[in-house]
Amino acid sequence: MKQIENYIGGELMPPLSDDYLDNFNPATGEVYSLIPDSDERDVESAVEAAKTAFPAWSATSPEERFTILMRLVALIERDLESLALAESIDQGKPVSLARVMDIPRAASNFRFYATAAMHTANESHDSVGHSAINYTLRQPLGVVGCISPWNLPLYLFTWKIAPAIAAGCTVVAKPSEVTPVTAYLLSKLCIEAGLPAGVLNIVHGTGPKVGSAMVAHPEVKAISFTGGTKTGEEIAQIAAPMFKKLSLELGGKNPNIIFADCNYEEMLATTIRSSFSNQGEICLCGSRIFVERPMYEQFKGDFVSRAASLKVGDPLEADTNVGAIVSKPHFDKIMSYIEIAKEEGGTILTGGKQAHLTGRCADGWFIQPTVIEGLPFDCRTNQEEVFGPFVTIMPFDTEDEVLSYANSVRYGLSATVWTENLSRAHRVAAKLESGIVWINCWLLRDLRTPFGGFKDSGIGREGGFETLRFFTEEKNVCVKM
Ligand code: NDP
Repeated sequence: MKQIENYIGGELMPPLSDDYLDNFNPATGEVYSLIPDSDERDVESAVEAAKTAFPAWSATSPEERFTILMRLVALIERDLESLALAESIDQGKPVSLARVMDIPRAASNFRFYATAAMHTANESHDSVGHSAINYTLRQPLGVVGCISPWNLPLYLFTWKIAPAIAAGCTVVAKPSEVTPVTAYLLSKLCIEAGLPAGVLNIVHGTGPKVGSAMVAHPEVKAISFTGGTKTGEEIAQIAAPMFKKLSLELGGKNPNIIFADCNYEEMLATTIRSSFSNQGEICLCGSRIFVERPMYEQFKGDFVSRAASLKVGDPLEADTNVGAIVSKPHFDKIMSYIEIAKEEGGTILTGGKQAHLTGRCADGWFIQPTVIEGLPFDCRTNQEEVFGPFVTIMPFDTEDEVLSYANSVRYGLSATVWTENLSRAHRVAAKLESGIVWINCWLLRDLRTPFGGFKDSGIGREGGFETLRFFTEEKNVCVKM
């Protein structure tokens, strides 16, 4: 059976414990590879390697970093097909999606930060009247930790690593134990690209063992984390008293607000995507759909019929729309929320059950796209993150009413607004408590823009120069003339 290895000090190696965890293929329910069950000793080696590599790496010119990172881009693009296949098998997502979204975006992340590093500039302040000039140095922090989740494995892993390396930091990184394979393949590409030993170190294993050892390590100066809000809380409890820099991208319960004057066909097609892409396992998926009452019945009929016609199938088949749920525990969590929705009085309009496939996927974890109505905005189903192919629909009458529903949750990651009324679009966008507002679109991402959440969806912003700044410390130098 394929055995994944850690990547420490430029070499692939087994965990010091020599213990391994099972890695499942969610479409078949079978164990198909083994993951290092690393512990704090592996983290210690990785931090040591990163620390050793830091002086030389932080002294490389932006052009040198650009050249190496662009080699990685070329290798990811060369291996697009095999990486997409690996991501699909490991995560359960349709291979067709991994091919056009996950893997191209991993390449884009490296390309974006390879070039960004060459365009940074620091401020200077002329202290007129004092015959002095101040300038700002932005120096790489040192060893930093990057921890990523299972929903967009290589996409989110590289979104953290690329800016950290481009900024001149050295990295200890942990992918989710649930989806480790493409991070492992990336470590092989780093060796092929000639990334100097120790610049990136990847330690596989569980959050409580590897993740928390990274967070608690005194030499790790910053933690960039994407994952659940509860895990974010645990990380903050350890890191905050150590005064580490923290970037936390956490959960969401995103509203879709649909006004009756919208471009109906475009809204409908996009709302299907924003509800069920990647099995609804994208932090930016809209899971609470509010529809202005005059259009509610029409929307309900069309949306339910399109959701019901999505093909839940083998992720490796070209026409599959909805693949497997990433793990058995997550499958059970989503199914438990279907029960909660029923207990709360919700009506299941379509789905609501496990999807039973045949052949090699007979024992896989599949759930039918599920649409529920009849629930109040403040019930558990409409307040808690489910993170699956599971949405609720609700009518509304006024702008103020829908804003109060939308903003009623503890989260504030993203929102979508559908209307042809320009003034209303801007007015509603300004009042939404949400880090991103998409008007008449969804998941249109420009990597230069700030990305992150309000409220319990996190702290800090990723994207653009913001992330390069996160991985550096500012120093003001004041020179008296
Ligand atoms: P988790 O919070 O369970 O895990 C995220 C990562 O943290 C994993 O690598 C996990 O390891 C690790 N981890 C777990 N416990 C600890 C700990 N105590 N200390 C340090 N690291 C730890 O999230 P999921 O993987 O379940 O991902 C789904 C969540 O991610 C959803 O809530 C979703 O909304 C959120 N998310 C947010 C995004 C955003 O940009 N805001 C984007 C994508 C997802 P292991 O897997 O081994 O447990």
